[in-house]
Amino acid sequence: MKILVTGGLGFIGSHTVVELVNAGYEPVIVDDLSNSDPKILDQIAKIIGYKPVFHKLDLCNEHSVKELAVNEPDIEGIIHFAAYKAVGESVQKPLKYYRNNFYSLINLLEAYHGKALNFVFSSSCTVYGQPEQLPVTEAAPVQSAQSPYGNTKQIAEEILQDMIASGSDYKVVSLRYFNPVGAHDSALIGELPIGVPQNLVPFITQTAIGKRQKITVFGDDYNTPDGSCVRDYIHVVDLAKAHVAALKLMQKDNFKGYDVFNIGTGNGTTVLQIIHAFERATGVKLNYEIGPRRGGDVEQVWGDVTKSTNKLGWKAKLGIDDMMSSAWEWEKYISQNPL
Ligand code: NAD
Repeated sequence: MKILVTGGLGFIGSHTVVELVNAGYEPVIVDDLSNSDPKILDQIAKIIGYKPVFHKLDLCNEHSVKELAVNEPDIEGIIHFAAYKAVGESVQKPLKYYRNNFYSLINLLEAYHGKALNFVFSSSCTVYGQPEQLPVTEAAPVQSAQSPYGNTKQIAEEILQDMIASGSDYKVVSLRYFNPVGAHDSALIGELPIGVPQNLVPFITQTAIGKRQKITVFGDDYNTPDGSCVRDYIHVVDLAKAHVAALKLMQKDNFKGYDVFNIGTGNGTTVLQIIHAFERATGVKLNYEIGPRRGGDVEQVWGDVTKSTNKLGWKAKLGIDDMMSSAWEWEKYISQNPL
């Protein structure tokens, strides 16, 4: 079964390509390389033993996407990762985010319109904002988005639901990811931030390797066990497997229309706990300091994963130590073998 993986050379996409092959699917990758490196294709090939089909194209280009649908007519599923994802940049450049994240989605849906495709959408726990109840369930109200990036996820989910309500032949699952970290256990693929990392774990590994001087913990006066923010960190390989589970769910005859699932571990971990877990898992001491709170940060969020366990038949297996040690192995690999 051929699965189109948009953004397939990115962080989550590359790990998902590997898990698709492990599960017997045939990935076809699309990426414009705006936030990834073409050599990731060679890295994937080292893991799976062959180079998957790759189309370099910008999904915002309607003509290219129509051409893609002509050249790849026997696609049976789409996993749509391609998007811009930097929350801070989205506040500075909202139109860049609205353009990329909406045009790419709509072009793709229109190009394969009329086919009974299984479509997996990359959403985010950012749609919950600061939930009133924790752990947050899929039934919690979706807050009016905290950033243009968050807004693109919220509205994209609505676009997909409207499309299904109109009688479309697509089946759609939106996966609301919590905080993906870690890397493949081969250390051949991992997160590849361009410039200064926006997320905690790549910042930690770059500090540990000496690329950055120190980590700033943004606030230690939140109402959490140690005062730092709480997140639900999930190993990227577990996350990748959730996409396989979503495809399998949609392949069942009784699956109709649209559904949404939290993809996290169900556990909250503080920023300081992550720093100490990294030190424990790797034996490397980290240079960190406590700074002021960062504007726009949610105090604490972690997911209720009952629905994904029961209905999707998926559960995260890897723990914080696996997340830290695999991220560290990848950082060491990429520092010694730059792409
Ligand atoms: P990433 O930037 O590593 O991967 C996205 C890929 O999409 C990149 O390779 C980029 O080159 C490609 N791309 C972007 N715009 C494109 C376009 N117009 N045409 C073709 N390719 C395009 O990001 P990621 O961390 O792998 O995230 C994947 C998805 O998951 C995104 O939709 C993101 O919003 C979502 N998500 C990520 C996180 C996270 O913390 N990483 C959390 C929640 C949701």
